[in-house]
Amino acid sequence: MPELPEVETIRRQLAPAVAGKRLERLDVLDPRWCAPAAPDEVDAATRGRRVERLSRRGKYLIWTLGGDVHVVMHLRMTGNLLVSETRDGDLPRPHLRVRLVLEPELQVLFVDPRRFGTGHVLLGTEALDAYFATRLGVEPLDADFTGDALRALARGRRAPVKAFLLSQERIAGVGNIYADEALFRAGIHPLRPVGTLSRAQIALLRDTVVASLEAGIDARGASFDDFRHTDGARGSFQDRFLVHRREGLPCPTCERPIKKMRAAGRGTYVCETCQPKPRARRRLETRPSS
Ligand SMILES: [Zn+2]
Repeated sequence: MPELPEVETIRRQLAPAVAGKRLERLDVLDPRWCAPAAPDEVDAATRGRRVERLSRRGKYLIWTLGGDVHVVMHLRMTGNLLVSETRDGDLPRPHLRVRLVLEPELQVLFVDPRRFGTGHVLLGTEALDAYFATRLGVEPLDADFTGDALRALARGRRAPVKAFLLSQERIAGVGNIYADEALFRAGIHPLRPVGTLSRAQIALLRDTVVASLEAGIDARGASFDDFRHTDGARGSFQDRFLVHRREGLPCPTCERPIKKMRAAGRGTYVCETCQPKPRARRRLETRPSS
């Protein structure tokens, strides 16, 4: 599933190609994509508008069009955005759900075998902000994601740290891959209650979340499954995983085999030597607030 680095990769590839172009039409071929809005409502709200900016928030891609109109896309499990510079985009294509026809001469295709991807039109910056306010927390690559900010979010919480990292309304954009990689780099077990982490561990975890996401962007995302670039190429971060999807392979630090377990309902990869298990029935410690 695409996470922050994969969506950011798409944004960086797509932005120079679409910025300044006019959206001639937005064809929603699968109404489930924009439900409860109807496909013709989506087209009517966006048709003829210029693409001013392509931005990202968490795992969402935001098309800002002229007249303060925003199209917010989420790729979910298997969504991809592919660029077609010719009219080849008009040809039938498996799993094509949405076609954005831009002038001059460009098509962007939302291709999505599992059909969980979504798109919503939001009219006005206020509506856009309200949409994200209830869904997304701090943006981990922004300056306000500090050790202190993470500590404030974690304080007093009994949730396992992996589940905490995956909750988008706290930290936006971290998913299964980058949570595993960040926890390994920090030497923290995924089931450790987040409120029991020391101040130093929280500061380290903040740094390893950022480092893992930046490594993912640097490798242009991970393509062990459906994720592809806008030209169909693959990312290479899967070749740099430290623990994720490396069950039974040697830990890069201690060489003991990496273990697969369940955490937060997800397949989770861990080195239990480098990431010691939390002690059973450990009491939640209260710490001074500064
Ligand atoms: Zn190890």
